[in-house]
Amino acid sequence: MSSKKYTHLFFDLDNTLWDFTSNSYQALLATLVSLKLLDQIGSYDLFFKIYSEENDRLWELYRNRKRTKQELRTQRFESAFERIGIDPKVNGTILNETYFNEMLNQTKLVDGAQQLLDHLHGRYELAIITNGFTEVQYDKLTKSNISQYFRKVFISEEVGTSKPGSKIFEHALKSMNAPKKSTLMVGDNWDTDIVGAIKFGIDQIYFNPQIEMLLKTKIYTTTMSKNGKKNLQKTSLNITSTSLQTPSPKTSTTYITHLDQLLIEL
Ligand SMILES: [Mg+2]
Repeated sequence: MSSKKYTHLFFDLDNTLWDFTSNSYQALLATLVSLKLLDQIGSYDLFFKIYSEENDRLWELYRNRKRTKQELRTQRFESAFERIGIDPKVNGTILNETYFNEMLNQTKLVDGAQQLLDHLHGRYELAIITNGFTEVQYDKLTKSNISQYFRKVFISEEVGTSKPGSKIFEHALKSMNAPKKSTLMVGDNWDTDIVGAIKFGIDQIYFNPQIEMLLKTKIYTTTMSKNGKKNLQKTSLNITSTSLQTPSPKTSTTYITHLDQLLIEL
């Protein structure tokens, strides 16, 4: 009999395994270069920050069905240019198409993701649950060479429902034949991955490299032993809590700052 606490692991994709922030930074930069817009925008770092805010804002509207897919894709660029007061003379559709093509060249994974998946593969049933567009999310997995680790991939657009709603978790659970008690959700987004899994009733790992700044809770840290091998140990931090709510008592929430800390939870 297996003594494993978990048998099925559900992973979010963007910024949990696939380094969305770095990859989109590079892709947007390449887009502006290719469309000869880079020298018009002033500071690229500032523009990227503004674009990211607009992207998040419009994604939220899309999730709540207040924007269509096409509106989200074009308006995020148009709104960013509007905010810096520049008319790019290129419409949102062209900007979006160029950006998508550039995204296909970006394959950076989150630190430790490849090693983690290598280790987990064959030991656990692995699946992805991601809010995103079907064609883009599959490309990310195949281009960055991690699709082979997952038995199934659940993409909100394909399933027709998104995190944090329970339906996508329910669908994934049934489809994987996964027992709720031994299924774990790993994700970087509190509002979608973690709150969604809490409401659905499965345990969660909240991955956030900046967590130490945010929480007053028990977390795990990685230390190096004398022989250079990594040791994982629990530690307790006393840092002022912010707006994070107390998790539901029915499920367990663990906070990690590096993916390899996941291993001590399994
Ligand atoms: Mg994410």
